[in-house]
Amino acid sequence: MSKKPWQKILAETINDLETLAKLLQVQPHELAHQSFPLKIPKAWIKKIEKGNAQDPLLRQILPVAEEVTNIPGFELDPLKEREASPIPGLLHKYQSRVLLIMTGICGINCRYCFRRNFPYEEHRTGQQQWQKALEYIAEHPEINEVVFSGGDPLLAPDNILAKLAQKIAEIHHVKTLRIHTRLPVFIPERCDKDFFQWFTGTRLKPVMVLHINHPNEIDTKLAKKMRSLKKRGISLLNQSVLLKGINDDAQTLKTLSEKLFFDCDILPYYIHALDKVKGAAHFEVEKSQALQLQQELQGLLAGYLVPKFVQEIPGENSKKGL
Ligand SMILES: *Cc1c(COP(=O)(O)O)cnc(C)c1O
Ligand code: SF4
Repeated sequence: MSKKPWQKILAETINDLETLAKLLQVQPHELAHQSFPLKIPKAWIKKIEKGNAQDPLLRQILPVAEEVTNIPGFELDPLKEREASPIPGLLHKYQSRVLLIMTGICGINCRYCFRRNFPYEEHRTGQQQWQKALEYIAEHPEINEVVFSGGDPLLAPDNILAKLAQKIAEIHHVKTLRIHTRLPVFIPERCDKDFFQWFTGTRLKPVMVLHINHPNEIDTKLAKKMRSLKKRGISLLNQSVLLKGINDDAQTLKTLSEKLFFDCDILPYYIHALDKVKGAAHFEVEKSQALQLQQELQGLLAGYLVPKFVQEIPGENSKKGL
């Protein structure tokens, strides 16, 4: 089968340190790369300012020495997700919604990611396993929303996503189909005709939660694509991670919210405190600073443009305020 346009763009991805070093005049760290491999699509690289070691998009993807120092309190599985998985590939932490792990891979490897050590091989997905997940959802009438997550669910082929969406729509108590994805942020072409067909083609209410951390991630191509999603009835939300030196100041977060809403028709949803995953300690923002940022933002933006500042605490029945 020939590759779709978005797959061709995705294939232009940098996986080796030398190419990255040459392209951006930076020095990636070898051991850090070994602990979590480099993966950066060229579409992402284009948005980085060359020669600026502090570029906020560069810092999200560059392997650095701090990743390989052990910091107490930063663990391999900070969210205890293994315990929330009644069957492989399905997480049921919060009463009304389940999360399906559609794939273990992402289009980009973010250095701060809480899944950087996630045992995806334990959640390998196949036909038979989706059958079990569907049965589980059907047997739990309290579930009204299914979230396609990952990794990045939009790396799964459209025919599989379509089939699953259709099966989920046959379960009467499910009302919403949600996707958590970062792929369209750098490859808007992913939202093509086939995508629209399955995502807006069932009785389920389509919701897409993007993951954008910094206003520089938003360009006119992305904005245009997002507005077209909105016009087709897809509700658009954004979640960010609060990252030291990247978006931990009020002006950056204000600009982000404004660009999300005015340019892209996306509403800010969550800003997550960093999950304490091994290798990401240098991205952590102090809780007191986060609380102050929240206060400041409330003074700068309309209420609906202020994302909720949340953290995930294992065993709780929802994400919690700071
Ligand atoms: C974050 C999360 C959800 C979604 O939670 P919302 O607060 O509805 O956005 C669902 N399931 C799991 C396992 C999650 O981690
Ligand atoms: S896209 Fe999301 S899940 Fe994938 S590496 Fe980045 S933060 Fe992690």
